[in-house]
Amino acid sequence: MFRKSMNFMTIAVLLLAACVSAKDVKNIVVIGWDGSQRNHVKEMIERKELPNLMALSKEGKMVDIDVTSGATDTKAGWTQILTGYRCEVTGVYSNSRYQPIPEGYSVFERLEKHFGPDKIDTVAIIGKKGHVDNDGPQKVHYEKWLAREKKQEAINKKAAGLGNMQGGKIIEENGKKFVETPGKPWYLASQHMDLFENGLIENEKVGTRAMEELEKRKDHRFFFFIHFANPDHDGHKFGENSQEYTDALKSDDEWTGKIVAKIKELGLYKDTLVYIVVDHGFNEGEKGHSYAPYVFMATNDSRVNRDGDRMDIAPTILKRFGLDLSKVEPKLDGTPLDEPAERKIAPAENPNPNSNKNAAGLGKATGKKKSGQTTEKNAAESKKNGRRKSREKQQEAAAANTDV
Ligand SMILES: [Zn+2]
Repeated sequence: MFRKSMNFMTIAVLLLAACVSAKDVKNIVVIGWDGSQRNHVKEMIERKELPNLMALSKEGKMVDIDVTSGATDTKAGWTQILTGYRCEVTGVYSNSRYQPIPEGYSVFERLEKHFGPDKIDTVAIIGKKGHVDNDGPQKVHYEKWLAREKKQEAINKKAAGLGNMQGGKIIEENGKKFVETPGKPWYLASQHMDLFENGLIENEKVGTRAMEELEKRKDHRFFFFIHFANPDHDGHKFGENSQEYTDALKSDDEWTGKIVAKIKELGLYKDTLVYIVVDHGFNEGEKGHSYAPYVFMATNDSRVNRDGDRMDIAPTILKRFGLDLSKVEPKLDGTPLDEPAERKIAPAENPNPNSNKNAAGLGKATGKKKSGQTTEKNAAESKKNGRRKSREKQQEAAAANTDV
């Protein structure tokens, strides 16, 4: 009897401790440094060029993060970081092969569901337009699609992440051919968020907008994703070893500092965890990130205690907000970064160098089948046999998109 009651007491104490620790964390802010190479950042730390990142890690930890599932690019990266799944589960493999993240799988949606939509504000303020996007499925005239694809062939796809989405389904309606292309990764998830704003491009715009929203939502519980794109853009333009890339990282750090200062000014810092996370690195000395799996996470979360994988970040966040991960369906592929897990290290050479090729779109994309006269086949395959016409003039904005 005594032993039984002791066990009960122990359990009660443990439960209480779990509740308190969950209660401690009211808000989480994830700050994305798109395209930040781990080694480059560590060299800058040695030169003390990233004071705000260093201050945050001093309170908590800076750990190595590797990418072992999905491409080292933007679409795959942010999807994995903000869901906690392998690419096979979300269907977002790379910038060119993707579908909308299945409904309910993102951190944003899980938090909305856990707390109730009125009890938490979920906000995403994003520098990029392409690849962290929420456009719905598109129906493109076949000829237009063909012309766009032809233009794509001229692009060197070996350069990291270049080229637009390929694939889609040919559908025929009233004798006219169309190609239905899948919605973008954040198409479904963004419908459940309080704010999804992308395409702000410059760090200054992203940072300023984020601070406005923090001010506006200071009396609510919140989860923010703030995405800075400048290092990625400058890395592509000037190369990983350029001064411009270094300066863009300094800018990320500076704006991170301003955001942290804002959280402090609003009196929220003691209840708020901040995580700096990265989608992919950069090929050493190059202008691309075709295989750049080495990144990092820096945080004021003192419970983080090990290096990990890109898919471990979402479980860490969900756990801090008090979610019972054993009840998350489907089971998360990552493990919280305060729990022991086998260390996954990305190999030095790309284990799957063809993963970005033959990206013929996913058969299971959410496009609805049309009834009656509709026929479907894989558009990428059909294009080989299709007559090449270039009636279309310059391509629409999507084809001109330079984000990668
Ligand atoms: Zn890029």
